[in-house]
Amino acid sequence: MPTCRICGTPLHTFLDLGHHPLSSAFPAPAEAPGAACDAFRYRLAVGRCERCALVQLTDDIPHGYRPYPGYPYHSSGSTVMREHFRATGRHLLRTELSGTHTPFAVEVGCTDGVVLRCLADAGVRTLAFEPSGYTGHGGIRVHRAFLTAASAREAVAAEGPAQIVYAANTVCDIADLPGLFAGLDELLAPGGVFVFEDPYFGEIVGRTAFDQFYDEHRYYFTATSVRALAERFGFRLVGIERLPVHGGQLRYTLARAGRRPPSPAVAELLAEEAGRGLTDPAVLAAFAGRVDGVREDLVALLEELHAAGRTVAGYAATAKSCTVTTYCGLGPHLIPYICDSTPAKQGRLTPGARIPVRPPDAFAAPYPDYALLFAWNHAAEIMARERAFRAAGGRWILYVPGVRVV
Ligand SMILES: [Zn+2]
Repeated sequence: MPTCRICGTPLHTFLDLGHHPLSSAFPAPAEAPGAACDAFRYRLAVGRCERCALVQLTDDIPHGYRPYPGYPYHSSGSTVMREHFRATGRHLLRTELSGTHTPFAVEVGCTDGVVLRCLADAGVRTLAFEPSGYTGHGGIRVHRAFLTAASAREAVAAEGPAQIVYAANTVCDIADLPGLFAGLDELLAPGGVFVFEDPYFGEIVGRTAFDQFYDEHRYYFTATSVRALAERFGFRLVGIERLPVHGGQLRYTLARAGRRPPSPAVAELLAEEAGRGLTDPAVLAAFAGRVDGVREDLVALLEELHAAGRTVAGYAATAKSCTVTTYCGLGPHLIPYICDSTPAKQGRLTPGARIPVRPPDAFAAPYPDYALLFAWNHAAEIMARERAFRAAGGRWILYVPGVRVV
C-alpha cells in the first residue's frame, strides 16, 4: 500500500488515471512504439495522507530525469508569466527585502531566472540552487546542487544567511522535502522567510483540472497540508496569497516558529478548506466522478466531430496534454497534430499518444475547424493572439472546468 512521503501513513487513493508515459518523453517519429524514452509507464494515481492531509502521487517515478539539459520549459516563455515573475520580484523587494542592508536572496530551481534578475537589478545579491545542466539563467549565479543542509552550509560560508528563499513550481516536485527543510534551516537568517508558489489543490478540485496531475508534480498542496508540513520541520505558515496564473496557484510564506504572526489570510483559507471538506473522502469521490465525466464528454465530442468530417488540431503540447491524451485514449485518429512553440518538441511525437508536434505556423496553414486548447491556463493570452482563427470560423474546445466549444 502506498504511504505518505512525509509521515509514512497509508495513502487513501481517490483518483487513478491509469498508466502514463513521462510527460516530457517526446520520441522522434523514427523511434518504434515502445522504444527508448517512449517505453516507460507509471501509474498516475493520486492519494491523500490520512494523517497530514498531503495530497500526492501514489507511485514514485524511478528515474533521476528532470529537468534535463534542453528541458523545454521556460518560466517566462509566456508574456503573462514573464510579467507575473517580474511582479513577484517587485513584490519581494517591497515586502521581504526592504530595509535590509546588503540583502541576499536565493531561488530554488530558477529555470530562466526572471525573478532573481529582477532582484539583482535592484542591488540584491542572488544565488540559484539548480541541479540541472540548464544554463539559460540570464547571468544569474547558479549553485549546481539541490538545496540540502550540506549545500546550504557552503552557501552560508560564502555569502552569509539569506533573507529570503523563493521557489516557483518547484517544491511540488522535490522528492526529499525533509532535505529541503534542513537546507532552509541552515540557509535562512533568523527572521528570513521561505516563499513558494505551486498549483493549488483547491483549484484543481474546484475546476476539475485533472490535467494538473502528471509526473513532474509529486505534491498538490493545500493551506492545511502546508501548515502541517511547515510545523513538522520547525516552521510556520504565516502568509498566503492567491495567484491567478497556471489555472490557480497559491503563494505560501513560511517563517521560523515564533518569528512572525500569521496573516489573517491564513486563518481564512484554513477555514474555507475545512468548510469545503476539501480532502474529505466524499468530496474527493465526487471530484473523481467529475473527472470521468469530462473524459466521456471530450471523447464523445471529438468522435462526433470526426464522424462529421471536421478537422481538429491540438494547441500546445503541454505536460498537461499528456495526461489528457493518455487518460482519454486520444491519438492521431482524432487529433492529427498538435501545434507548439517549443522547438525541442517540434518534429517529434507526443508521449504515448504519438501525435505529431508541428510548429505554430502550421496552425494557420490551413486553420483546422476546431482547436483543442491544452494550454487552457493561458486561454485569454492565446485566444487574443489567435483571434484570426476565430475570425476565420474556427472554434476552441476547452475541457476545464467542463467540455465546451467557444
Ligand atoms: Zn502524511
